[in-house]
Amino acid sequence: MSGSEIRVRIAPSPSGYLHVGTARTAIFNWLFARHYGGKFIVRIEDTDETRSDARLVQPILDALKWLGVDWDEGPYFQSERMARYKPYVARLLESGNAYRCFCTPSELEAEREKAMKEKRPPRYNRNCLHLSQEEIDRKLSQNAPFGVRLKIPDGATTYDDLILGPITRDNNEIEDLVIARGDGTPLYNMAVVVDDHEMGITHVIRGNDHVSNTFKQIHIYRALGIEPPKFGHVPLILRPDRKKVSKRLGDKDVAEYGHEGILPEALFNFLCLLGWSPKDDREFLRREELIRIFALENVNPANPIFNEEKLLALNKEYIKDTPDYKLAEMVAPMVVAAGYTTKYWLETRWLYLLKIVGLLKERSRRMTDFVSLSEYFFHGEFSYEPEAADKQLIVANLPYLKGLMTRFEGISDFSKENLEAALNGLAEEMKVKKGQIIHPARLAISGISVGPGLYDILETLGKAEVIMRLERSIKYVEKKEGRNNG
Ligand code: GLU
Repeated sequence: MSGSEIRVRIAPSPSGYLHVGTARTAIFNWLFARHYGGKFIVRIEDTDETRSDARLVQPILDALKWLGVDWDEGPYFQSERMARYKPYVARLLESGNAYRCFCTPSELEAEREKAMKEKRPPRYNRNCLHLSQEEIDRKLSQNAPFGVRLKIPDGATTYDDLILGPITRDNNEIEDLVIARGDGTPLYNMAVVVDDHEMGITHVIRGNDHVSNTFKQIHIYRALGIEPPKFGHVPLILRPDRKKVSKRLGDKDVAEYGHEGILPEALFNFLCLLGWSPKDDREFLRREELIRIFALENVNPANPIFNEEKLLALNKEYIKDTPDYKLAEMVAPMVVAAGYTTKYWLETRWLYLLKIVGLLKERSRRMTDFVSLSEYFFHGEFSYEPEAADKQLIVANLPYLKGLMTRFEGISDFSKENLEAALNGLAEEMKVKKGQIIHPARLAISGISVGPGLYDILETLGKAEVIMRLERSIKYVEKKEGRNNG
């Protein structure tokens, strides 16, 4: 590692899936590293055994990969580093910056309740700060359980946050926190400090819910005589109801967005705009451009609101921006999973799929729209949209459907231009407006009243299929009429 190299990290705890908040923080760190040619590291903070679930590690890593957030080092696991923290704890005990606390949980609880009653902030009363060496030795020889507490000095502490600016806290707002258990295993803040130090982290960029931890960590750094990294606290993402995005409130796992048809590039771009902006009104910003222009100075400390409509609008842009062949590759397994067709059928019909994708591209806000909008391209056994059928598939329209069928049968080159000319000719002959024919025809062909241009659909389906569908609709009207009259 060179002296000036930027090294940042994302440190998820495997207590849940990767949610948008952590993903966005990962993206900011990643962009910062890529912008400066530095390193981005993944560290799994799994020291809290009761809250960590090893099965969640892979989904978290997969979600980062899916977003295109690749890492240069790691994943490191805190649980595999346990032996490394002990010397630091020992150092703090030796230097007198930390002390053993033998208070029992019930003593601490009673103390806490007393403080609450007296309306004092509950802080550790430093009962064990001045134990004599004999007392300590006696308790140790009795195997009395203890924790190691950091002695917070008097005074005030200031640090210059890269995003929030200078922040000062009175040290007496912080109690002598427990940094390790009796066996030397670290608690959260201690582990973070040692890891960030040993991993050469130069900039800690994380959610602003960690500001109070930052002060605790600065005290640990100082007690160890280590220069702290720079800290920058990014705003938290709020839901439209202004509550903080959280798993508890049912907020989605990042992978879920993929299942719902969001492209990773779109989510990446969207998450970047939550709390950061290029300081002009551009929103569609590709990854390469974001790497070029990303700057921590442009992070806005105000907590941004997650606006799903905006995500969908961006997703639509990204869909439009993706070449048809790539979209087709993604859509193929989806239409197979939907049961519209099989893998084998598609194998010889790539051009057909490409055409469908091209036609639906402008209308899709989610990748899943390609599925919900395309069923009629794969089979003709659809049911007609009921309301539209009541209006369009009626006896009065039979002459148009029949007339179209006859004219279409006569076309050998089933091209858009020829189809349009045929329909126009029929409208003229029957002295009706084109729409009069287009609406029932669209329903007969696709079963729904919206979609791509009629001639595009007809050309794509091809003559045989179109004739069959017109016939089917004619029979449908005749049968319905028969029933109505009978
Ligand atoms: N494990 C912490 C979290 O998931 C990370 C804190 C940090 O980045 O230092 O919130």
